[in-house]
Amino acid sequence: MAKQPMLKFVSVSRDMPEKRGADARNQDFDEIYAEFAAAKAEEQASRCSQCGVPYCQSHCPLHNNIPDWLRLTATGRLEEAYQVSQATNTFPEICGRICPQDRLCEGNCVIEQSGHGTVTIGAVEKYITDTAWENGWVKPVTPALERKESVGVIGAGPGGLAAADMLRRAGVQVTVYDRYDRGGGLLTYGIPGFKLEKDVVMRRMEQLEKSGVSFVMNCNVGDDITFAEIREKHDRVIIATGVYKTRELTQDGAGAQGIVRAIDYLTASNKVSNFGDTVAEFDSGELNAKGKKVVVVGGGDTAMDCVRTAIRQGAESVKCLYRRDRANMPGSQREVQNAEEEGVEFVWLSNPLDFAGEPVKQLTIQKMRLGAPDASGRQSPELIEGSDYVEEADLVIKALGFEPEDLPTLWDQPELAVTRWGTIRAEFGTGKTSLDGVYAIGDIVRGASLVVWAIRDGRDCAAALLEDLNMKAAVAAE
Ligand SMILES: Cc1cc2nc3c(=O)[nH]c(=O)nc-3n(C[C@H](O)[C@H](O)[C@H](O)COP(=O)(O)OP(=O)(O)OC[C@H]3O[C@@H](n4cnc5c(N)ncnc54)[C@H](O)[C@@H]3O)c2cc1C
Ligand code: SF4
Repeated sequence: MAKQPMLKFVSVSRDMPEKRGADARNQDFDEIYAEFAAAKAEEQASRCSQCGVPYCQSHCPLHNNIPDWLRLTATGRLEEAYQVSQATNTFPEICGRICPQDRLCEGNCVIEQSGHGTVTIGAVEKYITDTAWENGWVKPVTPALERKESVGVIGAGPGGLAAADMLRRAGVQVTVYDRYDRGGGLLTYGIPGFKLEKDVVMRRMEQLEKSGVSFVMNCNVGDDITFAEIREKHDRVIIATGVYKTRELTQDGAGAQGIVRAIDYLTASNKVSNFGDTVAEFDSGELNAKGKKVVVVGGGDTAMDCVRTAIRQGAESVKCLYRRDRANMPGSQREVQNAEEEGVEFVWLSNPLDFAGEPVKQLTIQKMRLGAPDASGRQSPELIEGSDYVEEADLVIKALGFEPEDLPTLWDQPELAVTRWGTIRAEFGTGKTSLDGVYAIGDIVRGASLVVWAIRDGRDCAAALLEDLNMKAAVAAE
């Protein structure tokens, strides 16, 4: 009988790739997890129970064929595992690194539910595609035929890049416009290197260029070129601009110097620590936590990235203020644990009352308790009277979330329909907007979301757009 390689979850326990010790990882911006060795990846993949109805797959936004690539990995058929993995995911090695797997695939793994510990799906996904890159299996796209239609994509984040890749595979001429100097969007300038090293993103950018995608960088649409001009230049346009308007603190004193936006702080850090760029606000100390008492306000992924960046910059102390408790925070529990190991102090059930000093020197903190659930079902934080206390801080980082910019006004497109939250109104599954031939995807449609959802949108939109182009070509041919 052939050797049965799978279902080893009973005899083999769950094991993540080795994590560097907190003292070592606090000194640099390199990723904190090592790569699986081949034998370890095979062993961990072999724990999969090969369920008939794989919940991991249905809870992956890309519906990755996880059981199949785990089985291929367990049996050493890595090139085939890579082919299966990349068939549904444009950037598997990126998702493997930064998806909140505890909420998606791994959180719904059947052996996790039965108390054996989930298969380490993300780590194996990363391993497969990193190995593919090492072995030269990741090739630039060479379309079987070149089409004459052109598509302009505004925004080189994961959504825009996933759409560009799919369209290019079909031979469409694609130009991506971005206001930053480098592509990748938040993969490059939001998410820090300790979660996602930047050469992983840059090699994807190079690959897309080699595949014939044109990039127009340092080009702010609405400023350097109008939206109308882009529409004129291309047969179709995809808006993939993300959400960048920071939710502000409104308390007294919140306008003081030393109270900064998370996106500015993280962008400066990513430029300096990952690319060696010179950033004046970092050199002046404005966006540098070195030697400072840092307070980060917020409890999402952005707040987690800020606190851990501040530790690496050599802050004197780092506190994270969140108005709900640990169980109710939006950020990944795995990231909270990493942050705690690295020396971050979480101050749960707390909210700033006001700020004092110019530049900021201290803030008053109010304690909260969780009350009755609100309309969304989440318990609302309520103030505990008389619980105020004062905390010193000389750098306060606002990480309360992001909202969309007002694109219809900024781009002089009053016909571009938006929702009451200001996100672009787009058809589910295709991304079609109220403007003819204009699509929208990713965070600008969903609000602040996840990389894997932006990739899903990009792929779905490209498929719908190609169908439109094919239909138009067929009608013209008749
Ligand atoms: C700090 C931080 C950490 C995060 N961590 C995670 C994580 O660990 N895991 C995860 O899954 N998700 C994470 N996210 C969310 C994730 O990064 C986003 O959901 C995802 O990047 C959205 O992709 P997008 O393509 O829609 O937009 P973006 O990645 O935001 O890309 C949009 C691009 O459009 C460009 N652009 C905007 N306006 C214009 C214009 N007018 N003209 C030209 N170009 C323009 C921008 O420069 C940018 O490059 C994080 C977000 C932040 C802020
Ligand atoms: S893309 Fe994300 S959710 Fe899907 S299998 Fe990979 S890590 Fe899990």
